[in-house]
Amino acid sequence: MSDEPQHLDRLNGMLRSMARLVKGKRRSTPGARRVSYTMNPRQACDVCNTLFDYAICPAQMPAMSRCGECKQKLADGYTALISPSGGYAFVKAATLKPGEVVKISDDVFEKVLARKKQQEGA
Ligand SMILES: [Zn+2]
Repeated sequence: MSDEPQHLDRLNGMLRSMARLVKGKRRSTPGARRVSYTMNPRQACDVCNTLFDYAICPAQMPAMSRCGECKQKLADGYTALISPSGGYAFVKAATLKPGEVVKISDDVFEKVLARKKQQEGA
């Protein structure tokens, strides 16, 4: 029975720190508590595969869309070439319609890249 006041003191201290914790919850301190919602992309670019339009929402499959950069390139008269493996290139050619997105095979894409490199090097 002689050590009871000590216990009460410790309990009092615990309660006080608990009260402080509860109070502190209203102020959001970065990293202080786990964030239940994370930033998730809501759109994916169908040309460069960039995820964008991030928002705090439950994870979901991003909708296929087009990012501002690719939109700009297409508006500038480029044609986007995309390959099944996720490669993409912006080209200008007389045989291609400006502003169009053309799906090509990986083989053709490799050739396009090689030719593009040659042209840029020359
Ligand atoms: Zn894009």
